[in-house]
Amino acid sequence: MLGRYKGFLLDIDGVLVRGGKALPGAKEALEELRKRGPVLLLTNNSTKSRAGTAKRLMEAGIPAKAEEVLPSSFVAAKFLRGEFGPVRYWFIGESGIPEEMEALGHILVGPEEAEWLVVGMDRNLSYEKLSQALRALLRGARLLATNEDPTFPTPEGLVPGAGAVVGALRGMGFPPEIVVGKPSPIAFRVALNLLGFHPEEVLMIGDRLDTDVAGAKALGMDTALVLSGVTSREDLLGAKNKPTFVAEDLAGLVREEFLAG
Ligand SMILES: [Mg+2]
Repeated sequence: MLGRYKGFLLDIDGVLVRGGKALPGAKEALEELRKRGPVLLLTNNSTKSRAGTAKRLMEAGIPAKAEEVLPSSFVAAKFLRGEFGPVRYWFIGESGIPEEMEALGHILVGPEEAEWLVVGMDRNLSYEKLSQALRALLRGARLLATNEDPTFPTPEGLVPGAGAVVGALRGMGFPPEIVVGKPSPIAFRVALNLLGFHPEEVLMIGDRLDTDVAGAKALGMDTALVLSGVTSREDLLGAKNKPTFVAEDLAGLVREEFLAG
C-alpha cells in the first residue's frame, strides 16, 4: 500500500543501521524505495555533517549520497539561514555543526560576539565549554538545540546524547529557545521543502514513537514504525501516537506493503 506515497523520509539508527552495521535487508529495501520516489534520511544525530553522515552509512554498508542525508546539524544551519540569514554563532558539539554552519554561510565568532549558540551531542564536553557557552548566553546569544535526545545508542550501550548538553545549559537557567531535531516540526518542514511534496504525500519511516512517529503525525504525514530499533510491540499497546504501518524491519515493511501491494 506504499504506492500512494510520492516520497519517503527515513530515520537512520534503528531503521538502516544498528551498532555501526547495516540491518539485514536494509540496503535492498532502501534501493526499492528509491525506485518509487525520492528518499531523504533524517537523523537527529548532529555529530556529523551531511557528507560525514553519508560516509558513516557507506562504512556500515549502505550506499548514500550526501544530498540524501539530513542530520540535525544541517537542519539547524538551514533553518537559521532561512529565518535570519547568515548569523554569527558559537557552538557546543562535534564537527557536524561547524561544517554545516560554514557551508551555509554562518560565521563562527567568539562566545562574547555570538548571536546564536548552537548545541548538540559532544563527546568532549567539558567545564570550559559550558563556561564559554554561559558567557555567550549571558551576553544575549539565543540558544538553538539540534535535538534533545537523552541518550545515544552505541555497540557498547547507551551514552549521553544532546540532551545532556541541553540539560546542563537548562540547569544554568537557559532552556533552548528553538529545537530543530525530531519531533520538532522544523526537521520535517526542512525535509518536506527539499522533497517538494505535501505532508500527506510522504511516508515517515522510523523506530521511535516519541520522535519519528509523533513529529511526523503532528504535521499530517503517515508513518511506519519498524521494530528493529528501540520500540517493541509491547510499547505500541499503550501508545497514544499509533503509526499507520508497523513492520519488523525496513525489509519487512517494503516486502509486505510494497511488493505485495
Ligand atoms: Mg532511530
